[in-house]
Amino acid sequence: MKTADQLAQYVLPTYARSPITLVRGEGTRVWDEDGGVYLDFCTGIAVCSIGHCHPRMVAAITGQAGRLIHCSNLYGIEPQAKLARTIVEDHVRLPGKVFFGNSGAEANDGLIKTARRFGHRRPQADGSPRFEVLTFSQSFHGRTLGSMAATAQTKIQEGFDPLLPGFRYLPFNDPDALRPAIRPETAAILLEPVQGEGGIHPAGAGFLHTIVELCRAHDLLLLFDEIQCGFGRCGESMAWRTIAPDIQPDGISWAKGLGGGVPIGAFWVSDRAIDADGTALSSLMGPGSHASTFGGNPLVCAAALAVLDEIAGQDLAANARHQNSRIRASISAWKLPAVLEVRGPGLLLGVALDPAALQVPAGRTPALAVTDECRKRGLLVVPAGPQTVRLLPPLNVTCQDVDEALAILHDAITSLSA
Ligand code: PLP
Repeated sequence: MKTADQLAQYVLPTYARSPITLVRGEGTRVWDEDGGVYLDFCTGIAVCSIGHCHPRMVAAITGQAGRLIHCSNLYGIEPQAKLARTIVEDHVRLPGKVFFGNSGAEANDGLIKTARRFGHRRPQADGSPRFEVLTFSQSFHGRTLGSMAATAQTKIQEGFDPLLPGFRYLPFNDPDALRPAIRPETAAILLEPVQGEGGIHPAGAGFLHTIVELCRAHDLLLLFDEIQCGFGRCGESMAWRTIAPDIQPDGISWAKGLGGGVPIGAFWVSDRAIDADGTALSSLMGPGSHASTFGGNPLVCAAALAVLDEIAGQDLAANARHQNSRIRASISAWKLPAVLEVRGPGLLLGVALDPAALQVPAGRTPALAVTDECRKRGLLVVPAGPQTVRLLPPLNVTCQDVDEALAILHDAITSLSA
């Protein structure tokens, strides 16, 4: 029985899959079960940040697998301690503490729980807890009941109501809409510094500064979802620093590229004092407040440590910036009517397509049609919304691979051009 037939028969049909089954990967390339080879500019949707089966990651995983794979957070876990220290000291570079889970959605649930704890500790004037988290149009925060309710996209929530209460959605990058929106029950503002699934839209510096000002004025938490944009992807360790480096968030969530392919998510909570007694925000998530059986186990933490060492040691954030300017320069030189613009920092790039300049097969969006044509020519890319194609190569991608991918993308777009 072919893999596709087994999947159709035995796996819930929640994914619209491409008609290929991948069986092997090395660096920027993957192979399918029929021997087809592809340049991978999808990387498991911004996950394989140092490429497929990087020797350093393979060595870390096999070495740890031979020592200790799992033991429970009932005990000390050495790679977890090292990873938390690396994240705090080298990447966030602000005092705080990390919790490890298994996915991005879970990490956001942790931030939402932190906001609710904060709302209990710093209640409304009448003593009732604050609980509301403000999020933004076209955001994507995940598929658990909490992170789905935080996600301001009805297509993600359809048929799953009643949603978890306590969220309100505001227009993205619109400081004037946000200012009057704060209510007595509001406790936090959560956003992606660069929206990924919503189409690659960076927050403006002015918008972020307005958020900071409102958080100070109304005693709110500022929470960044860096699940897709964090850890070098945007050309800095943390994406918000590419926009407004002076900002100090209260919480950050990550997953995807942190583990380079192993399932790990995490959130960080600041040690900043939230009251006159000097209570640290991070202390609100004390013993018993949150837990995960697998979270931060030795195997995934050893893998993530190898990934972060490679990103920092090879300065892959600098490569992300370098490749960004090369890609932008090439695509703008094409002068293709079907390309409206290229958006995004580092290697979180969106190529926005003009539907009027493309002939798209029935039932396909422009982004899906270009993705299909790229795949047929040996390049994997991924849509971000109906009209944007995302380029998410590994952070160590070479100029040669970028040039090869761009030639395929050009060919794919022109093949569909009206
Ligand atoms: N937040 C952002 C910004 C994401 O891009 C994603 C996944 O695409 C998530 C959260 C959810 O992550 P996961 O699929 O690991 O639960």
